[in-house]
Amino acid sequence: MYSANKNRYEKMIYNRIGNSGLQISAISLGLWNNFGSVDPYENQKGIIHQAFDLGITYFDLANNYGPIPGSAEENFGKIMATDMKPYRDEMVIASKAGHEMWPGPYGNWNSRKSIIASADQSLRRTGLDYFDIFYSHRPDPMTPVAETAQALDQLVRQGKALYIGISKYSSQETQEIIDIFKELKTPFIIHQPRYNMFDRKAERGLFTTLGENKKGAVGFSSLAQGLLSDKYLKGIPNNSRANKVTIPFLTTEKVEPTINTVQKLNQIAQRRGQTLPQMALAWNLRIPELASVLIGASNPKQVIENVKALDNLSFSPEELLEIDRALSE
Ligand code: NDP
Repeated sequence: MYSANKNRYEKMIYNRIGNSGLQISAISLGLWNNFGSVDPYENQKGIIHQAFDLGITYFDLANNYGPIPGSAEENFGKIMATDMKPYRDEMVIASKAGHEMWPGPYGNWNSRKSIIASADQSLRRTGLDYFDIFYSHRPDPMTPVAETAQALDQLVRQGKALYIGISKYSSQETQEIIDIFKELKTPFIIHQPRYNMFDRKAERGLFTTLGENKKGAVGFSSLAQGLLSDKYLKGIPNNSRANKVTIPFLTTEKVEPTINTVQKLNQIAQRRGQTLPQMALAWNLRIPELASVLIGASNPKQVIENVKALDNLSFSPEELLEIDRALSE
């Protein structure tokens, strides 16, 4: 029987999302990988327990996480039912709709039909009564944005979601949907962009738009899927995402060009008394709009290492310059 660490709130930092009432842990756990039907269940439990024991309160799901799609929500639902139920009110649990999930014209994108059906499926798979945050997973070029906003607003009115988020919307698309949410009085609070040392696109307009509207963000792939660690310095090890056949996103072609830069960053991190993942997470958190940085983890030890990023969040101007230089060489 799992019993949570009594000291779990002592060291974690909690940040307010924009000007909303909701605070989340500065480091949060994503279940995109390592929680599918192909992954060992006991390890999944271990990762969730470890995260919660260290004060992580925000858990990030989506309809399609697995593989197979849907299985991460099912596994999370099992762990909630058996271990985490007493802690439900201490957790912020999110899901999303918008990527391909089931066959035919309704299992994808952002129509009212797809979003409502997908949210209902996600609630069934997780066994939850409601999600704390429900996201539109990506912008839809075909569906009118007002329809998507109204569908998300309906989830809140029906008690299926407390707050609304969007992911991967450009700065302009974000402003457009914010204006509609304002009219509808939807509790839209958060954007989920990709943000890490190798992908700084969100710095070019998105963070400013969020700041101007007093909204927050939670960054995904904060470690560039593991590239921002010392894992790949001597090739691609067996126990790595790049070596998994079930995950096609991190390939040898993506790993190799980063090795020189990672070596330089690793040296800067060592001088700061941090590991590279710790420095990379701390560096992301210098953005005021980022309430939290999402991490993925393939084992509980990675969660322990990554949460220690919070021990040193300050950067001197020289360090920031040196990091910029390493990234631009
Ligand atoms: P990361 O960039 O944090 O990559 C996670 C992977 O990096 C781990 O699975 C592990 O891979 C490796 N890793 C983590 N910590 C360490 C460490 N200390 N040392 C060495 N390697 C480490 O995040 P993800 O790309 O997984 O994304 C995080 C979450 O963001 C997702 O789970 C999801 O919730 C969300 N997300 C949202 C998206 C969206 O469209 N909104 C898209 C993508 C993600 P290994 O297996 O090699 O050990």
